[in-house]
Formats: sequence, C-alpha cells, structure tokens
Amino acid sequence: MKKDSYNAFVAAQTQFDNVADKLNLDPAIRELLRQPSREFHFTIPVKMDDGTTKVFKAYRVQHNDSRGPAKGGIRFHPDETVDTIKALSMWMTWKTAVVDIPLGGGKGGVVCDPREMSLAEQERLCRGYMRQMARNMGPVQDVPAPDVMTNAQHMLWMMDEYEVIHGGRYPGVITGKPVGMGGSLGRTEATGYGVIYCLRESLKNLGIDISKTTASIQGFGNVAEYAARLYTELGGKVVAISCWDNKDKKSYTYQNLDGIEIDKLATIKDSFGTIDQEKAIALGCKKLDGDAWLSQDVDILIPAALENQINADNFDKISPQVKVLCEAANGPTSPDVDPLIKERGIYLIPDFLCNAGGVTCSYFEQVQCNQNYFWSKEEVLEKLDFKMTTAYHAVHNLAQEDNLYMRDAAYVIAIKRVAEAVTLRGWV
Ligand code: NAD
Repeated sequence: MKKDSYNAFVAAQTQFDNVADKLNLDPAIRELLRQPSREFHFTIPVKMDDGTTKVFKAYRVQHNDSRGPAKGGIRFHPDETVDTIKALSMWMTWKTAVVDIPLGGGKGGVVCDPREMSLAEQERLCRGYMRQMARNMGPVQDVPAPDVMTNAQHMLWMMDEYEVIHGGRYPGVITGKPVGMGGSLGRTEATGYGVIYCLRESLKNLGIDISKTTASIQGFGNVAEYAARLYTELGGKVVAISCWDNKDKKSYTYQNLDGIEIDKLATIKDSFGTIDQEKAIALGCKKLDGDAWLSQDVDILIPAALENQINADNFDKISPQVKVLCEAANGPTSPDVDPLIKERGIYLIPDFLCNAGGVTCSYFEQVQCNQNYFWSKEEVLEKLDFKMTTAYHAVHNLAQEDNLYMRDAAYVIAIKRVAEAVTLRGWV
C-alpha cells in the first residue's frame, strides 16, 4: 500500500477480514464488527480571539459497545479524516478486548491545529465539542480520553461543559483528567510504560538481554517519552528519536550513538512533542532527516507518532539488525508490510496490544472515580504491569501454540471476546 493510497479504515478492515476468514466468523457478526455502530459528524463554531468565527469539522465514532461503554481518545489534527477516526475506533474495540477490560471502542477527532490556536480558543473548541456530543456521551455510554495533540486540560474543559449541561458531577465521563481533578496517578506514564512492559517480556521470550539493546523511536510525545524513559531505566540505549517540527513543517531525527539522555531531551521539547533543534545539538545530538529513525542499526524500532509510517515505500530501509518492532502508535504499519515483517523474522508487538496501557489506566481511573478513592502511583503501575504482562503472554502463547503471526494472535483473542459478547447479548 503506497503512502498516498493509504486509508486507515481500509487497513483496519483488511486486518480484521484476514482473521475473520481464519476464524470462520459468523457472517452477521462479521458484518456487524467490520463497521462502526454509530458515527457522528458535526461542526463546531468557535469565536476566535480576533472576533471572527471559525467553523471546525468534528467526528465521534462508536465502533462497538457490547463489552462496555465505548472508549477512546479525541484527537486534534489538521489532517484528520473520518476514515482515520473509524479505523482508530475499531482498533479501540480490539484493544479493550485484548487486555480484557469491560469497555468497547470509540474515537473522536477535530480537524484543527491547536499549535496555531490560543488556549482560550482551544477551551471554546473543547466546550463546543462537548455541547455537540453531551447527549450521546457519558460514563455509561461513551468515555473519551486524550490522544494526539489533546491533553488533561482539554479533557477537564470537556468534563466541565458536560457537568454544566447535565447539572451534576460526572468524573466518569472522561479520562486522562488532571490528578486532583479525578485523574489517576500514572496515567501520563501508562501508555509508554505499557509499551515497555510488553517489550521487556518479549525480550525475555527471545532470550535477549535488554541492557545490551539499542532502540530508535519515531515521535517524542506522551507515548514516546515515557517509553524511552522506562526503556533506558531498564538498561536499554535510545540512539535516535524523530519528531515533527511545526515551524519548518517537516520532521527531523536526532541521533546520538552514545545514547540520548532522555531526561534532558524532555526538558527541551514543547507540549506538542517538538524538540528544540539548537538545544538538541547542544545536548550532543546530530540532526538528520526525519525518516532517518527508520534506517538506524538498532535492535528495536518503536514507531510512536502516527499511522502508516512503515509501508511498502520505505520498508527496505529497515536495518537487518532490527529484531523487535514495537507498534507504540496506532496503525503505524500498513497491512502490505505484514508479509515482509514475517519474512524477515522481525518479532512484532502489534499496536492494539502494545499501546493498550493508556486505556487500561483510563479504566483504572474510572474505577477510582466510581469508588471516589484514589490509589498510589505504585499501586496503579503495579496493576498496569500485571494487566499488560498477562495480555502480552496470552497473545505470545497463542502465537506459539497455533503458529500464528503476533498480530493475528492478538486479533483472534480480541475478536473472539467481542463476538462472544454480541452473541450473549442476542444481537446476532
Ligand atoms: P503526541 O501528540 O503527544 O505526540 C506525537 C509525536 O509524534 C510528537 O512528538 C510529534 O512531533 C511526532 N510526530 C508527528 N508527526 C511526525 C512525523 N511525521 N515524523 C516524526 N514525528 C512525528 O501523541 P501521543 O499521545 O504520544 O500519541 C502517539 C501515538 O500513540 C498516536 O498514534 C496515538 O493514537 C497513539 N496512542 C496514544 C495514547 C496515549 O495515551 N497518548 C494511547 C494509545 C495510543
């Protein structure tokens, strides 16, 4: 699948169909699960600081809620499309199922660029989003969370608007809230740490000592930063990190073969995960082309930015040294490179397993809000590690037993759970 012909929803359906064929899935269940249950398309008029009104296009897609309320982030991105949101909502259904938490799958997005909006404009956009969705969202219907270019503050504005509309306190309406305002300790770290819990276990299975490994990462946002932090804490060496630079409208890779000091790099990035070019060079990094992260001679590749970053156009740039591909982003690999990954014998940790730490911690956040009692960070991370490690081994073991590709094994577990839920409910 060439970069320009890539469609995330087609990719998500292709992956699903491959496994549905293998499972001989009932045709009605298949028809139900290969598309979203509900899709909302709406506009949000926002008064801008200069007095004009700008109208933003927005979406919320609820793919499936048979195992619990729909769950998934809201993304702000100038290139957002409804097909990307549909794919992401479908992947959320598999994600909540593979880690076995009582939630379904949903996703939202607004076509906007928050990097070019003031905080006041962003607040009005968040409140406008919730005004449009307040009747179809809620703790027992559909629960959003942060995603690309949205954060705890955006979530709190949305929660506040929901509470104004419904007249009460509903901390369970949204997750990823600030700590002290219904947020969970450990949520900031959760997705990145979950990636590394899976990586840690996979390296044990492969007989590789993590402290002798090197990694290259695409992205330095929430997921990538905390994955890099835990990986280096466990002894690994990150030699390259790439990020988008909004000023130059292109991406760069920062490389340091002696190992990038993640703590220091984190102090020179902005809230959108853009690294300051001059300061990175002062830290001893070489500035390379944006796609150089992919061709590094490393053991581990961690795409943690956006979808379709590894595709038929660039797969051959991957070094023969690479042993593990950790899909920290959603859909970073297009379906047509799956055969190439298998052929090369690269061990894959598929996206909806690899990055499920965020939604697992969001679930913990809901549990804590429901009981109105909050756990320590150690307790949250211990429970998270247990959930992620259990899910990872279930997928790995099934792949070994049935000689399945890791992505297919994860799909088999997830699809079977969702198929069982829709059957038990009598929907099909
Ligand atoms: P973020 O907005 O915090 O960071 C995104 C990073 O990607 C930034 O560093 C940005 O500069 C970089 N980037 C964007 N385009 C790039 C390009 N073309 N080349 C190189 N770098 C580029 O986002 P995030 O929350 O870290 O999410 C990253 C991915 O992980 C997304 O696919 C998201 O859906 C997925 N994800 C996030 C969470 C979560 O809890 N945040 C949970 C599960 C999955």
